[in-house]
Amino acid sequence: MRAHQEEEKPVPRRNVRLVEGSCLTVACRQCEPSPCVEACIAGAMIREEGEVRCDTDKCVGCWMCVMVCPFDAVRPGELYTIKCDMCPDREEFACVVACPTRALFPATPGEFREYIRNKQKAGVSS
Ligand code: SF4
Ligand code: SF4
Ligand code: SF4
Repeated sequence: MRAHQEEEKPVPRRNVRLVEGSCLTVACRQCEPSPCVEACIAGAMIREEGEVRCDTDKCVGCWMCVMVCPFDAVRPGELYTIKCDMCPDREEFACVVACPTRALFPATPGEFREYIRNKQKAGVSS
């Protein structure tokens, strides 16, 4: 189902900006250690199974996580903080499926490093 057809409208969880004419998109980097987890006074921002997520029942909306995130990947919602939640109710990431140029793809850090190395090699040899 398309996002605009969903009864409960999805909220943007990825930050998309124009930087010097190019599109730059950033979602949570799951950084470790995580400044947002360390800053959260309510114990709402937690790391579980390698993924940083917000327990919305505990969030008190102090926005400390918003202030400390170095990637601008978390933002204040109406009641609690909003960040990428890794699409827990979907089989595939919605952003990856929606991207028309396949610029987004799921990868582990190791796979992504390999991708960058290959791109750099291709750039050097061309
Ligand atoms: S919200 Fe920001 S600080 Fe927290 S893990 Fe994600 S990128 Fe890192
Ligand atoms: S806004 Fe919520 S998740 Fe963020 S630091 Fe405050 S209590 Fe924690
Ligand atoms: S993985 Fe899901 S929640 Fe995270 S940015 Fe992509 S669509 Fe949004």
